[in-house]
Amino acid sequence: MTERSYKKPEIFELKTAGGITVYRLAIETFTNHVNNLYLILDHKHVTLVDVGSPLPQTTEGFLEALDLLREKFGRKVKPHEIQHVVITHGHLDHYGNIAYFRENTKAKIYVHEYDTKVLSSFEERLILTSKDIQIFLERSGANAETVEELMTLYGHYKALYSSNPIDTVMKDHDEIINGYEVIHTPGHCPGEICLRVDNFLITGDHILPGITPHQSPASIVLFCGLDNYLNSLMRVRKEKGIDRVLPGHGNDFEGLQKRIDEIVDFHYGRLLKVLEICRESKTIAEISKALFGTLQGYNRLLGLQEAGAHVEYLWERGALRVKNVEEIADHPNPVYRYVRGSEAILKQLNLSA
Ligand SMILES: [Zn+2]
Ligand SMILES: [Zn+2]
Repeated sequence: MTERSYKKPEIFELKTAGGITVYRLAIETFTNHVNNLYLILDHKHVTLVDVGSPLPQTTEGFLEALDLLREKFGRKVKPHEIQHVVITHGHLDHYGNIAYFRENTKAKIYVHEYDTKVLSSFEERLILTSKDIQIFLERSGANAETVEELMTLYGHYKALYSSNPIDTVMKDHDEIINGYEVIHTPGHCPGEICLRVDNFLITGDHILPGITPHQSPASIVLFCGLDNYLNSLMRVRKEKGIDRVLPGHGNDFEGLQKRIDEIVDFHYGRLLKVLEICRESKTIAEISKALFGTLQGYNRLLGLQEAGAHVEYLWERGALRVKNVEEIADHPNPVYRYVRGSEAILKQLNLSA
């Protein structure tokens, strides 16, 4: 017998105030990367929120989780009984296994309108986005070798997924399935949604315990960016009567507003740090290094995007300005250098340390 190479799934039972049962299935979708898939059972519908990655271990983990559901809680659910598959956002660890559900169930696939392209025009979108990422990387001041390596890594996505048709396009405020409310929360991903089920909020990667979700500039992908993200946090903060948060990674938790305030504080602190770093003019690559140190592999791209998202937020408001405008005017795609804006502006923006 070969030794298993991935963690055993874990499963947790939760009940909403209105008596809907939600199972959190914690499944290792990539090595050392666990996603929560949520199985919602109301009286009429069987719904799965998120499907995990396209790696075979996701399906194995999912089937094992259904076995655990029977053993631990006496609930028998067969894959073909799933009627609805709702995708929280267009990231591969959340939607990548759609093909399995298309082939083995009659489930309708739901995704927000801004992420339909990712799922159903994957190849086109990957090529177009990779062009914009390359421009971003060249402007960021990453050296040519790094740019080439990162573009190769990004291209590896190609092999992992191919497009699938989707059935239902979700929009903000839609009520789907059995009155579950769609709240569009762009920022971490353009089509990110939170799904309100009674007094529960399934948050995908919009709100996570312990970590802040990755940010990428809106200049690479429209409807990403810190500005959208912070606005989406404020949008969710106004939701009344949420007693439990069901995130895409990590444990479910209470205290939605408190967690939102922590995330906002965290980004505010990071904005101040970027302003501090930019007392002398800096490239995004230099800012990333000052924030995160030397990163390896794909994390280098994530670090540059995270730094870039904060720089973009500050630049949009005049809190940072570009130092080498003449050089930029004369060259096709030179490196941008950012420097702290005037103290008067920073004060007005509440960003002066
Ligand atoms: Zn994500
Ligand atoms: Zn995720």
